[in-house]
Parts: sequence; structure tokens; C-alpha cells
Amino acid sequence: MEKKALIVGAGVGGLATAVRLLSKGYDVKVYEKEERVGGKINIIKTDDFCFDLTASILMIPDVYKEIFDWAGRKYEDYLEFIRLEPFYRVNYSDGSRYDFSTDLTKLVDLLESTSREDSLGYIKFIGDAYRKYLIANQYFLQKSFRNISNFFNPFTLTKALQIKTFSTTYDYISKYIKNEKLRQFICFQSLYMGISPYNGPNIYTLVPTISQLYGLWYLKGGMYSYIIALQKMINELGGTIEKGINVEEILISEGKAVGLKTDKGIEKGDIVVCNADFPYAMKELIKDKKAKGMYTDKKISKMKYSCSTFIMYLGLKKKYQNLSVHNFYINDDFKENIEYSFEGKLPVKPSLYIYCPSRIDQNMAINSKESLNIMVRVPNLYFDEIKWDKKTIHSFREKVINTISRIKGLEDIEENIIYESYLTPKKLQSLFNSYYGTAFGLSPTLTQTNYFRPDVKSQNIKNLYFVGSSVHPGTGVSIVLFSSKLVVEEILKDEK
Ligand SMILES: Cc1cc2nc3c(=O)[nH]c(=O)nc-3n(C[C@H](O)[C@H](O)[C@H](O)COP(=O)(O)OP(=O)(O)OC[C@H]3O[C@@H](n4cnc5c(N)ncnc54)[C@H](O)[C@@H]3O)c2cc1C
Repeated sequence: MEKKALIVGAGVGGLATAVRLLSKGYDVKVYEKEERVGGKINIIKTDDFCFDLTASILMIPDVYKEIFDWAGRKYEDYLEFIRLEPFYRVNYSDGSRYDFSTDLTKLVDLLESTSREDSLGYIKFIGDAYRKYLIANQYFLQKSFRNISNFFNPFTLTKALQIKTFSTTYDYISKYIKNEKLRQFICFQSLYMGISPYNGPNIYTLVPTISQLYGLWYLKGGMYSYIIALQKMINELGGTIEKGINVEEILISEGKAVGLKTDKGIEKGDIVVCNADFPYAMKELIKDKKAKGMYTDKKISKMKYSCSTFIMYLGLKKKYQNLSVHNFYINDDFKENIEYSFEGKLPVKPSLYIYCPSRIDQNMAINSKESLNIMVRVPNLYFDEIKWDKKTIHSFREKVINTISRIKGLEDIEENIIYESYLTPKKLQSLFNSYYGTAFGLSPTLTQTNYFRPDVKSQNIKNLYFVGSSVHPGTGVSIVLFSSKLVVEEILKDEK
């Protein structure tokens, strides 16, 4: 008889796990508290505009495509990937602007315009970080650390030492590159893991490295197209998604997960996979103290969490030719302002990431309009000094608009806004139960990575598994897709 799998949450992690389990013959039911699936990968749709709610940077398309093989399908029947060139346009506060290309000749041209020494330094940095990425990919990202011996063995420890992650991202980059602007460009990308480049381990330089070497990609229709594709495959494979149902408890009996208690009743199952944010789930959905194991409420509230993000969604009534799809604005006092988001303060001079998908995709804004996400890193809700009330949002909004208006060609942006809304850490918490309203879940510090990060399999409870940003291997869509693969491999191992 088919085994019944219950999945809590229809984020990209929950949906990808559902597709993989269905393709292995499981009967799968997904429970999502919101009316629309996707979790943080979501959309805002108006008559004229479509906005990706959060994620916009698509790295390593092969990881996105791989799941279609599991389901015996061709990704081309569901998605259209477009390669972005330049992959970033970077504006600095002194008015200078640089287009970063994956074309080596164009890149070297740009780098040599600052200095030959830094050009060589950048190439050396990419080479060294690429070596680390290949080791991390083979020995850490695609491996579960179910037992202590999986990590603490001579082979894995040797590999860990080869990655040499101990210096900070900034110090590591600085060994190769002198130019502060170039360093800031790399640091800004390392922030995608929600950890400070001035404190966090240098392994997260793998983000700028992968972008440089493999390019950045765009999915026609925006990132939400991926969620639509997963949802379609679940329907085709016979799975069920229950929307608008809140899971209240993961039911545990005699050391085993046996089902879910929802606001609509009890559902029994053979296995439970929890995609709701791990710290939230441990605190709120698992009631049994023994079942929490080492993740007591006290430990959960003391763990380290990634920063959050403030996003302004702007619908503009004209086109802005000076924008590319992915743009940065690097402001003065970059280091100080970045560090603020890890110290509980709002940046005084925010540096911005500006996403403008309508540059290349008419699905995102009709009739010569433009849709823009402006993102700023801000503290998570652990720091309760910032209230995110109307007053805070209004004054921060003014600061962001003043900043963006300093970019050449964007001076008149405010008078062309015809749609405007915001995402705050509070909304991330209330919409998706993101613990402390973080953007990226548990911080990927060295003591919360690999064996030290919550694993995809519960240590104490049989038939209970986890998938998503706050568990191994970590945050970001492609990494969460790895997590969905690891969790299903563990489930299949346990079944044997
Ligand atoms: C602002 C921002 C920008 C980002 N940018 C990028 C990017 O450019 N590229 C990239 O790769 N990644 C990016 N990320 C990270 C990426 O979005 C996440 O890592 C990924 O979407 C997390 O997916 P998930 O499945 O782990 O969790 P989630 O998306 O949080 O899914 C969890 C689901 O569980 C549901 N749920 C929670 N509690 C319950 C309950 N009790 N009952 C029922 N359902 C419940 C939630 O509603 C949600 O749908 C970004 C994130 C943010 C916030």
C-alpha cells in the first residue's frame, strides 16, 4: 500500500519535496496556511504590474531543472530560462557605474579600467573561491549529516580544512583586491545569505563566484513561474494541496510522528515533512518536550538569526533605460550601514538592490511601464527597537526614494510612481511564520552549518523530517532545493 506523507507548508521546499515523494510512489498531501502556495516565493499582481514578492536572483539553473527528471518530465515544457547580460549593473554614490559581465573579455576590460593588479586579483579570487565551491558542493551541500560520524571523520574534516572558511568575507577578498568599490560589489552579493560580510565566514564568497562563473538567469514570468511549475507537477502526479489550512500541531505518539492537527481537524499519516521555518516549528508545532530534543524553547531563542529585508514595490508609468534587471546602488559609509542591519539599527545611508524584471519581460509590466523591487537589508525582529509601524515605514520610504533618485537617469522616479507597497520583517513573520521575521532563517554561522545546523531528519522522532531555509544545507532557493533532495533520500533510506 502507498505510504502517506503529510507536508506542513507549501514553500518551495515543501512543494519540491512533494514532487519528489510523488515520483517515488508516495501518497502526498501538502497543508498551506495561506491561500496561495509558494511561501516566500510569491507574487503581487495588479492590473498593470506583477512583482516577485522576494527572491529574484536565480543561480545554478541546473539545480532548478533537476527535479523535472525525478518527475519524468522536461523542464522546457514548464519554464523558459533567460541568461542575463550584464549580470549586475552597479552604481556608486560618486556617480560612477559599472556593468559586470560573464564574458571574460568584457570583464577584464572593465577590471583593467580600475587597475591591472586588481584585475589579476579578481581573477585569482574567483579561481580560489571556485575551488572551495567545488569541495563544498561535493562534500557538504549534497550530503546529510545525520550522525556525528558523518561529519567528524578524518576525510570530511580534511575537506572542511581545505575550504579554510575562518577569515571573514571582507578580509578574504581584501587579500586579493585593493579597490574598495570592487570589494563592496563582492560583499553586497555575499549578503544574500543574511550574514554580515564583515563577520561571516568567507565560504559565502561562493555566491559572487557562482554568479560570475555560471551567470545569473531569469525565469520568464518571474520567479513565481517555478512555483506554478511545481504545483502543476504535483497535480499531474496525483498529489493534493490544501490551502488556507493552518497546522496547529505535529502529532507524536510513542516516539513517532503520526499525523497533524489542523484548524480543520486531525489527519493521520505515515511520515511528516515540516517545511514551516524550523525554529518556529520546534517552538509552536512540536509540543512534546522530549520530541524537541536539544532544540528547547530557550535554545531556539538564543540561536543566531539572519537579517531581514525591507522591500518597496514600485509600479512606474514610464520606462527607465538606465536600469538593468539586477542593479546595486552602493552608498557612502557602506560598511557601517551594512553592519547596522546586524546591530538593530536602520541604515542612515542605505545601499540598495534594485530588481527591474520588466526590462526584459512584458509579463511584469504592461504598456511601457516598469515594475521595480527596491530591497534594503534591515534588522530582524530579535531587535525590537524598530516597530515597523506607519511612521517608521513612511520615514524609511522617504530615505529610500531620496537615495534612488540620486542614480543617474532615475531622478524623476517619485513623480512616476502609480503603484506602491511594502514588505517588512513583521509581514514576513505574519505571512509565513518566519521566526523573528528573518529573510533567510537561521544564520549560517560556522556553529550553525553542516553538522551543527538542524538536520533534515529529526534526531529524536521517527518519521519526522524537515526541509527549508533553516535546516541543512541552508538558505536560498537552489540550496532549499538541495534540502528537498536530501530529505527524500533520507526518507527512502529509512523505508529500506
Ligand atoms: C526578501 C528576500 C529575498 C530573497 N532573495 C532571494 C534570491 O534572490 N534568490 C534566492 O535563491 N533566494 C532568495 N531568498 C531566499 C528564498 O526566498 C528562501 O530561501 C526560500 O524561498 C525559502 O523557502 P522555504 O520553502 O524554506 O520556506 P518558506 O517559503 O517560508 O515556506 C514555508 C511555508 O510554510 C507555511 N507555513 C508556515 N507555518 C505553517 C502552519 N502552521 N501551517 C501551514 N503552513 C505553514 C508558510 O506559509 C510558507 O508557505 C530571499 C528571501 C527573502 C525573504
